[in-house]
Amino acid sequence: METNMKRIQQDIETLATFTSTPGCGVTRSSYTKEDQMAKDYLIGEMKKLNLEIYEDGFGTLFGRKEGTLKDAPVVMFGSHYDTVLNAGAFDGVAGTVAALEVMRILNETQFVNDYPMELILMNAEEGATFGPSTGVSNSRAMVGTMTEYELDTVKNRFGQTKREAMAEYGLKPDLEAAKRKPGSIKNFIEMHVEQGPVLDRENIEIGLIKYLAGIGRYTIRFYGQTADSTAPMSSRKDALVAACNFVSAFDAEMKALGEDVTGMVGKLDITPNSNQFVPEYVEGKIEIRTFSKEIVEKTDFKALVEKLLHQVSKQFGIRTELEEIRRINYPNPTGPSIMNAENVKKMEGICDQLGYSHVIINNGTGHDSMIMTDFADTNMIYVPSRNGGVSHCPEEWTDYESIKKGADVLLHLVMDVSKKNED
Ligand SMILES: [Zn+2]
Repeated sequence: METNMKRIQQDIETLATFTSTPGCGVTRSSYTKEDQMAKDYLIGEMKKLNLEIYEDGFGTLFGRKEGTLKDAPVVMFGSHYDTVLNAGAFDGVAGTVAALEVMRILNETQFVNDYPMELILMNAEEGATFGPSTGVSNSRAMVGTMTEYELDTVKNRFGQTKREAMAEYGLKPDLEAAKRKPGSIKNFIEMHVEQGPVLDRENIEIGLIKYLAGIGRYTIRFYGQTADSTAPMSSRKDALVAACNFVSAFDAEMKALGEDVTGMVGKLDITPNSNQFVPEYVEGKIEIRTFSKEIVEKTDFKALVEKLLHQVSKQFGIRTELEEIRRINYPNPTGPSIMNAENVKKMEGICDQLGYSHVIINNGTGHDSMIMTDFADTNMIYVPSRNGGVSHCPEEWTDYESIKKGADVLLHLVMDVSKKNED
């Protein structure tokens, strides 16, 4: 049994027309007219499949196919169809369309599932729309970590809060109603473009994810004092020298924590950034990635950064500041998101049977699947990104043939996990 590449291509090309920036990539922000147009198209396609179509309290779109088991947990699969500003046509959409195509095949072949199945088509994944750490919203609403506070505080590029944008879209969010009962989702499965160069470079058709690293972000600020390049060394309050000391000390601390975590200061902005003046102000960004839940439980990363900042403040007589960039209701850094290992094995077998080359790949950040791992058995399938793996830009590309192969793997996994175990 295989999916149909022509239909996948048609869906992707159609969805790409729902953009507010024709000619400059695809722009389909959450809760806009283009979001609604895409949603209407997806509803139209689902209607042809006799699915029970509904939206939850957060405006997430579902298409349900009942199974032989009553009141059983659901096998859910899909992805998002919102985009960043001037994006490509594939991030999120590839997985949305693949899932839709899987449902078409199951319908055409009159596949009998035991567990109920639901297509999940999400419209609020992109964090860029309402600012850092505000994405993956549909899944957060389902697992119950979305807050009323976030709806009223974060703003999009039009200056609207989430609640205001939703209201204009005709949606009155009900977070309580959107929450899923623990145990009510059996599987959450998402196909996605890799958004990296590995699969294309290695010429591998399918990437299977075992885990996605957790992530933590901080902004650090060093307030020194500028002076002319002739100012005596003893009188200086050089923000960059303080920042450099911090960078070294932080690197040493991270190394001492072992293999389960990485961390760095990856960005520094220097003011005035001139060879003639003592640096007055430095702002840096810390990025931490975690690979075990234990390291997150046993380490207070914020306290660690604060301690080091305090040290350089004292040593160089300058003021420092720490700001956390974090998702409301989540630790910073988060722990890794661990996928269902048994299903990774199953998918390796599926790939072998279909003759698709495959590899375990654990790269990536920020997918709804990451939110779902602690709530349901979750799995992700990557398909190759072309053009060096760029995404969130018009040059983003994945071959339709690649998406079809990813959809085939999704199809076979969905068929497998929706069947009652005979033993
Ligand atoms: Zn995406």
